[in-house]
Amino acid sequence: MDATKTIYEKLQILAHNLWWTWQPELDPIFRALDPQRWRELQHNPVALLQELTPEEVEARVRELVLESRINYAYRRLGEYMTATDTWGATRSGVLQVRPVIYLAAEFGLHESLPIYSGGLGVLSGDVLKSASDLGVPMVGVGLFYSQGYFWQRLNEDGWQVEEYINVDTSKLPMDAVLDRDGQPVVVQVDTRNGPIYARVWRIQVGRTLLLLLDSNIDANGPEDRELTARLYGGDMRTRIRQELLLGVGGLRALKALNIDPGCLHLNEGHSAFAVLELVRQYIHEEGRSFEDAFRVARQHVVFTTHTPVPAGHDRFDYDLIAEHLGPLADQIGLSVEDVMRLGRVRPEDPNEPFCMTVLALKGSLRANAVSALHGRVTRTMWHPLWPDRSEDEIPIGHITNGVHVLSWLAPQIYRLYDRYFGPNWTQRTSDPEVWAGIEEVDDGELWEVHQTLKASMLDFVHRRLVRQLKRRGASQEEIAFASRMMQPDVLTIGFARRFATYKRATLIFSDLDRLDRIVNDPERPVQLIFSGKAHPRDDAGKQLIQRIAQLAQDPRFRGKIAFIEDYDMNVARHLLQGVDVWLNNPRRPLEASGTSGQKAVLNGVLNLSTLDGWWAEAYDGTNGFAFGKGRIHTNPEIQDRNDALDLYRTLERVVVPLYYERDEDGVPRGWIEQMKRAIRTLGWRFNADRMVRDYVEQCYLVAAGATSCQMPD
Ligand SMILES: *Cc1c(COP(=O)(O)O)cnc(C)c1O
Repeated sequence: MDATKTIYEKLQILAHNLWWTWQPELDPIFRALDPQRWRELQHNPVALLQELTPEEVEARVRELVLESRINYAYRRLGEYMTATDTWGATRSGVLQVRPVIYLAAEFGLHESLPIYSGGLGVLSGDVLKSASDLGVPMVGVGLFYSQGYFWQRLNEDGWQVEEYINVDTSKLPMDAVLDRDGQPVVVQVDTRNGPIYARVWRIQVGRTLLLLLDSNIDANGPEDRELTARLYGGDMRTRIRQELLLGVGGLRALKALNIDPGCLHLNEGHSAFAVLELVRQYIHEEGRSFEDAFRVARQHVVFTTHTPVPAGHDRFDYDLIAEHLGPLADQIGLSVEDVMRLGRVRPEDPNEPFCMTVLALKGSLRANAVSALHGRVTRTMWHPLWPDRSEDEIPIGHITNGVHVLSWLAPQIYRLYDRYFGPNWTQRTSDPEVWAGIEEVDDGELWEVHQTLKASMLDFVHRRLVRQLKRRGASQEEIAFASRMMQPDVLTIGFARRFATYKRATLIFSDLDRLDRIVNDPERPVQLIFSGKAHPRDDAGKQLIQRIAQLAQDPRFRGKIAFIEDYDMNVARHLLQGVDVWLNNPRRPLEASGTSGQKAVLNGVLNLSTLDGWWAEAYDGTNGFAFGKGRIHTNPEIQDRNDALDLYRTLERVVVPLYYERDEDGVPRGWIEQMKRAIRTLGWRFNADRMVRDYVEQCYLVAAGATSCQMPD
């Protein structure tokens, strides 16, 4: 990179590569330019720099003596982008010429880019970042949602209200993809009712490229201009049109860019139509028959499924398929009925709708669940697709999810690890030896860092509570109370995630008298912080939010329970870096993996969770807390009641006593031992570098180089 650039230009370049989001030194630099606006702009450096002239920026940088830090970061970005000694350089073989294409309906990269709703999207984002760090060539393909998912407010009754705000594309780190003549690339996807068009944006995520399709262009009629406005918005027709754009339009965007895929990774079934587009390309370019083209196409496809309940999979009826897949079916020589068969468990059953997951399973070489337990559940669920095989022989494996370490580590913890984990530890995060370094850290020091993070988390909570109350026109008294409720020396439990009902956000409220005794114990009190969004059409989820909002006002719990509105990656980061315990209580076996608890582990926060998803294979009796005994009951009410009882019992007998057991210095030795055990035993396993390496070695290389394989019958 050019060293003659001005400081302002260097900041612009840094702001336009999301690499900055996982460099501990860059957030403070941008923030320092204008802390107030930084917060108001959702930590968006592109928007912030637009508000300042180059002269203002340079003056501010001189005043704060930031110049050498900016030069250093800029130089590191240059080195990062051109490095040749990566893991992938020697280990990713053919992918160096033909990259992995990673297709997903959502990407959670940073709070300033609101094109995600929850764990699926954050996983996609973490995969792109780890692929970048490892030097595994990858191109992400997704949709650009101009109104994001939604912004959440609670009204006075605690009922969730959704707000939709158009984000300004000129304030995001995105550029229009242009063709050789400098014209914006526009892809076209045909339906029986005419074409849908989309422009293509590019976002640089370290070394990884992310392409986002956006239907908001003049070529479309008013209805289709809104097609990609909202993530998971609209009806089934919106849904299939979005998925058509993602799968078919996504592959056409790659063609326009002359990107030759090594393999396709379908992250969840939303993008499965890509298989049919790949088939079309083989037929069109190589003159193959449909059967032959399908056989070859599927050798290049890797599929990850995330949904352990049948109802959670996208299904479309005949008419929607006819309208949207008709033209593609014509081109590949199939009837609409033939297409329907590809999406059915029992191809001959005219009453069975088209299921995206079925197409993805039939059209992929490798299919994976996202944890060991989810693998077993998934093999049972899809057994009917392979009726002649035993359950063990169902060709669905698993690669357990992990999180991108540097994106989720608190800077203070990062600095601590940096001193004890050995040279270049960030490039060796899947090595257990690295994490064993935690044993060298002094208990008192680890505890001090944790308490610092807890204090800044509580500051954040206070700021948010005050803002929420002011917006609702609360009294001065209420606002003053909220700004000092919750204490740093009280055991603090965090619960934040999507409010899907199976996650049972209100499980801990099953017995209010018992919770009252736990929370208000004079010697050993407990406080709870909640956050999360319910899908706009999920009234049951909204009722859970309302219940918590109302209990936060109950005299017994006032000041002990907080609900933070508008859960996003920023809220997540604050909470899971600063609470003592991360609570997770999905109804087993419905949590395919879960990842927020993995982020907590990295920061020394202990998990208290049912034995579901990743925790079922992570918990070893010494590295956090489990309850529910891994049981599943055919009657969910009984299961919920048993789990709640065991949650209370575990809190009362194990978690609370251990937290408050202090030595003469006030240090909870037993607790810190568990923190260290969690970091040591789990850090190296449940991170995204390990996950991406597994995908390369077990899936991508085979799919990119495969020459033959068997069709499922
Ligand atoms: C990590 C993360 C999730 C996933 O949380 P689960 O524990 O898997 O439910 C959801 N939302 C955000 C914002 C996250 O950062």
